[in-house]
Amino acid sequence: MLKNEEIDQLTGLPNLYSFRKNAQSLMDGRTKTEREFAIIYFDVQNFKSYNSRYGFEAGDRFLQNLTKHIEKIFPELMVARFSDDHFVSLAYFSGIEARIEDLRRRVISYNPDAGVDLHAGIYELEPDDTDISMACDKARIACNSIKANYDNIYRYYDRELGNQLDLEHYIIHNISDAVLNGYIQVYYQPVVRVISGRVCGFEALARWVDPKHGFLMPGVFIPILEDAHLIYKLDAYVIRQVCEDIREYMENGFKPHPVSINLSRTDFHQKDMYRLVNDAVSINKIPKNLIHIEVTESALDDNQDVLKGTIDKFRRGGYQVWMDDFGSGYSSLNLLKDYEFDVLKFDMKFLQNFGSNPKETAIWENVINMAEEIGIQTLAEGVETMEAWDFLKRVGCEKAQGYFFGRPMTKAECIDYLDEATENARPSVNALKEDDDALSHNKNIVELKNDEDDEEEIDRIGTIEDEHFMAQSPVYLTLAARGFVSLLEYNSYSQFQKHSFFIVANLSDDKLIRLHLSSKRKILDKEYHKQESYQDMIDDIVENTVIDEEKRNVADFFSKDRLILAYHSGINFDEIEFHRIVDKKMAPRWTHTIYQVIEEEGGIVAYFLSYDIDEYKRSKDLVRQMAERDSLTGLYNRHTAVPLIRNRLYRHHGGKSALIMFDVDNFRDINDRFGSFAGDEVLRRISARLDDFFGRDGIVCHIDQDEFLIFLENIQPVNLEDRIVDLCDNIFSLRFHDDKITFTVSAGYVIHPDQGRGYHDLYRKADMALCMAKNAGKGTVVRYSEQ
Ligand code: C2E
Ligand code: MG
Ligand code: MG
Repeated sequence: MLKNEEIDQLTGLPNLYSFRKNAQSLMDGRTKTEREFAIIYFDVQNFKSYNSRYGFEAGDRFLQNLTKHIEKIFPELMVARFSDDHFVSLAYFSGIEARIEDLRRRVISYNPDAGVDLHAGIYELEPDDTDISMACDKARIACNSIKANYDNIYRYYDRELGNQLDLEHYIIHNISDAVLNGYIQVYYQPVVRVISGRVCGFEALARWVDPKHGFLMPGVFIPILEDAHLIYKLDAYVIRQVCEDIREYMENGFKPHPVSINLSRTDFHQKDMYRLVNDAVSINKIPKNLIHIEVTESALDDNQDVLKGTIDKFRRGGYQVWMDDFGSGYSSLNLLKDYEFDVLKFDMKFLQNFGSNPKETAIWENVINMAEEIGIQTLAEGVETMEAWDFLKRVGCEKAQGYFFGRPMTKAECIDYLDEATENARPSVNALKEDDDALSHNKNIVELKNDEDDEEEIDRIGTIEDEHFMAQSPVYLTLAARGFVSLLEYNSYSQFQKHSFFIVANLSDDKLIRLHLSSKRKILDKEYHKQESYQDMIDDIVENTVIDEEKRNVADFFSKDRLILAYHSGINFDEIEFHRIVDKKMAPRWTHTIYQVIEEEGGIVAYFLSYDIDEYKRSKDLVRQMAERDSLTGLYNRHTAVPLIRNRLYRHHGGKSALIMFDVDNFRDINDRFGSFAGDEVLRRISARLDDFFGRDGIVCHIDQDEFLIFLENIQPVNLEDRIVDLCDNIFSLRFHDDKITFTVSAGYVIHPDQGRGYHDLYRKADMALCMAKNAGKGTVVRYSEQ
């Protein structure tokens, strides 16, 4: 007879404690025959979601039902409930697999819509096994090893898992030492702004570099530490380390980026995380807005007050709180209702099939729209390709993180990375000093020259003499170089030097004379000797660092023979722009090379200067794109109009606005019948008309082909309808050569804020209304409605 404290109240089964006790005596008393006993550990997949979807009472009933079936299928020895949805059975070995499958079928069929499943781990007891706790651990490990694995229902404990168990013990018993001995390292992964690709922060990710087990990833040690409720030891260390790293970075004269720190669910129950963070921040005297807190969605599943309280405390205390892995569970949207967040981090799997179908795009747009509406920023994790980045630009996601922009890296690598990206990193104090030294050095030279000039007091200035002086003055050259460098958006002259290559070569005897390869050669990590051939080096560089499409061109530009030939035909300088691969994992970067050939005593000598202009190119492109109006119609294009509209929606202070879409009826027919020039004329005509009609009080934009988008503020819906109908009732006609072309337009519109708030939402609704108008016939106007 079991005592009260040995029984699990919900299911009436023995609990962990009494299972261990009784199973141990069963084992001790068994005859040492062949392998006939097994420990089976059961785990219900997605049980947490079941609870949050159907409520705790339904969850309890689910577990009671499960108990009934386990007892029926494994009646022979013992069944117990260890915790939550974890059950264990001591059973005879025969028919074990078929019995597990039978149990699984029953579990699923209890509520087939719920998405729950059953996993089992099996440990066959060896004749000389004596420790029942150890045997249960082994079955549990086998079961956990197939978590998130949909192909396997059960797994036997084997040697490989044995090593895992050893590692698990090692991790649990060594976390404190690992922290003390510096085996835990903080890696940083960049977070960028989607629109510009510029770094705007980092995420701190822990690594365990162990002398015995080597380099361990969080996937290995985090779940173990979480299960053992020891994760707070690691997190407390990461918090301190991040704050120290930021302080050191600032002390070195750099402008710091915010860093987000991951906290686990059990952290909140074991330590006052707010105090831990706040103390580390104050001790290191860093601003609070440099630390963000990430809490994963699954931590929030069981709606605990402690967690909610601490999250609120962080936010009130001036820290941003981010929801990590959003969309990985079932209850994501509910959580937004219950908790306050500053940023939603979309789970990596969200980006797995991006853009594969229109639904996918619509989901992204809507979630982003919704987040925008409730004032939460969006961030996508796991961006691995240019295409994924483009997709995020299209759907309006604000921030991104992923291997495409940069992998998690050490603190030192981070500094290099920021240098490399010519990002906001300020020149270091040292670099500034170097520049100052150069200037003061140059000042002396000027003063020296001035002394010489003193003798000829009445000399006029502003003559050809001064032009010569300019050409030779180191200060003039320094200033010119600095001006040039700052136009290219480098932070300092020394930054520029770091990102440039300088090559001097004697072309006549094909020898290298001088070489400065930027400090970030990476791909071309190689030393050259003075005696080496210039041409061989160039071949090497072109082969390894120039993109395939441009290889031929660049090889030709640098070719020794071509340079000599050009020199003899009077060309002694030239320049080229091409794409250089700096890092195989990153997009190639724009590079500019300029050279000068001079005949010196030893022969024809070429001086090359190559430098990175990627940042410059990009900002120039952006400016151009932004400034550009549509060249055909003179109206705003999509690039310019959409941010303007978003901005106005953002600053909305009462009153109603409208987003209207116009479309020329049968535009394709006009193009086909009269030609595309006639089509252009039609577009110009209607553009002028729309601009006349709405240009004064609204934003008029030519979005695409024959589609126009108009945003009007402070409207009266009734008047507006009249105005639009006025336009759509018209039959426009124009002469094009000998043809008379007539056409009409249709429109769909939506009223803000009555019918929608965010830009994406309004756009979609106006588009739907336009679609309805088109279906209803030519020259029609439809206002969006839910039906
Ligand atoms: P997370 O917070 O969702 O972090 C993102 C994970 O995705 C990181 O894995 C990161 O290296 C990886 N990742 C980033 N970009 C890409 C990409 O483009 N493709 C792919 N396939 N993966 C990418 P990592 O570093 O292995 O960390 C795994 C998880 O461990 C983290 O997921 C976080 O939940 C947890 N973790 C890491 N460090 C800590 C820590 O210091 N404390 C706590 N409590 N948890 C941590
Ligand atoms: Mg995270
Ligand atoms: Mg994540």
